[in-house]
Amino acid sequence: MNILKGAHYDVIVFGCGSAGFCAAVQAARSGARTAVIEKYAVPGGVMTVLGNNCVSQFNNPFRTEKKMIIAGIGWEFCRRLEKMGYAEIPDMDAPYTCHWQYDVKVNPVAAAVCMTDMLAEAGADIYLDQSLVSVETDGRRVAGAIISTAQGLTELTAEIYIDCTADAVLCSLAGAETIVGDGNGSIQPGTMRYYPFVSDPSSPEVSELVEFRGDNRNHITGYNCADSFAKTKGDIQALHTVFDRMEELRRANAPAQIIGIAPSAGARESRRIVGRSCMAIEDYKSGRLFDDTVCYSFWFVDVHLDTGGSRIEYLTSGATPALRYSAMVPEKLDNVLAAGRCVSTDRDTNSALRVKATCMALGQAAGLAAAIAVRDGIGSMADVPTDKLRKELSKTGAIVPGIDDFRDYKASIKQ
Ligand SMILES: Cc1cc2nc3c(=O)[nH]c(=O)nc-3n(C[C@H](O)[C@H](O)[C@H](O)COP(=O)(O)OP(=O)(O)OC[C@H]3O[C@@H](n4cnc5c(N)ncnc54)[C@H](O)[C@@H]3O)c2cc1C
Repeated sequence: MNILKGAHYDVIVFGCGSAGFCAAVQAARSGARTAVIEKYAVPGGVMTVLGNNCVSQFNNPFRTEKKMIIAGIGWEFCRRLEKMGYAEIPDMDAPYTCHWQYDVKVNPVAAAVCMTDMLAEAGADIYLDQSLVSVETDGRRVAGAIISTAQGLTELTAEIYIDCTADAVLCSLAGAETIVGDGNGSIQPGTMRYYPFVSDPSSPEVSELVEFRGDNRNHITGYNCADSFAKTKGDIQALHTVFDRMEELRRANAPAQIIGIAPSAGARESRRIVGRSCMAIEDYKSGRLFDDTVCYSFWFVDVHLDTGGSRIEYLTSGATPALRYSAMVPEKLDNVLAAGRCVSTDRDTNSALRVKATCMALGQAAGLAAAIAVRDGIGSMADVPTDKLRKELSKTGAIVPGIDDFRDYKASIKQ
């Protein structure tokens, strides 16, 4: 097979969703020659193309003061969008009763534009509409990554590869061990997002199905992005559910139509890596700190069920969960990291840390770790000194547990 020779980089990030965007910006800002490869023509992943524009959660509302727990590139991105007039940031000090009330809501078009701007300003190369399809390995190392381009299959090479595909595509292609869903064939449902045009929002026929555009309601069971046959079946099922809603609206002569649909259902879980450590729910809930902790997280256990709704366990102890670097290091690969939803966790922890602000914080930590490895000539990502990583991460403006204090919300919006 003819494979074209592409460029060589210090760091290549696969997937430009919440995690990949932050990983690539941080790696490039830290001086690494960086590329980010995205399979859709629009960056942002679930936040933009796959249709959930809520960024949860930058604060721990159960703290009595200094409630901000995540800062860094994710917060910078949201603040920049807010200044452009395309993000709504709620008062993080307000005593809301629901988690989602603290979500930052971003405009998906502006979010994608802002991502491309921030990546370009950092000096990262962006490859859009180009999928990772294969990986060359040499023992425990990834030696090259093959992407599909309009010119043909092309091999890119790098010192370090970061898997931010949410589905652990790179790690799985490289032969690393991964786990899908509960490990026994059960997987949380996905959701197909659709976009309505509503000519009369006050009409009673404009049901909540239209209002919520499928978000967290239009459950597609068995939606497994780690298996293309199952995914195809799920996407066809998803198309039918949206079509059925369209027909309901037509039969009711409702003053609303469905005029757009996401290019795929969004997945809540698929593959996650088996890492050097596996983040466990007891540690997550208690806010246990480890030597290699890189960021905080705040979201509850939220395992969506086939029967509708979720199995929920709220975090009420006041503790703030904290996440580890070693859970981003695949056990069987040297020059690879994973960040975002596909890090090494048990299932309950994954259902909690998959929220976007946390994925952004993990991505930023991975991008910096990769840049340090390149700069300091470290061959295995397991050997990156975590005390150095934590100190340098703190200097970027991220909140690093054990080094940085929690932040005051009002102060954090003055800058
Ligand atoms: C319906 C739904 C509702 C949600 N609600 C919320 C919410 O209210 N608040 C919240 O914070 N989170 C929510 N989430 C969870 C959250 O959006 C995701 O867990 C989060 O986006 C994961 O970030 P990520 O960067 O790991 O992955 P993603 O955002 O999925 O990004 C992964 C990127 O990798 C790309 N990619 C995949 N394979 C390849 C390949 N082979 N080659 C190149 N690129 C590839 C994808 O196209 C994508 O852009 C929701 C998720 C869903 C599905």
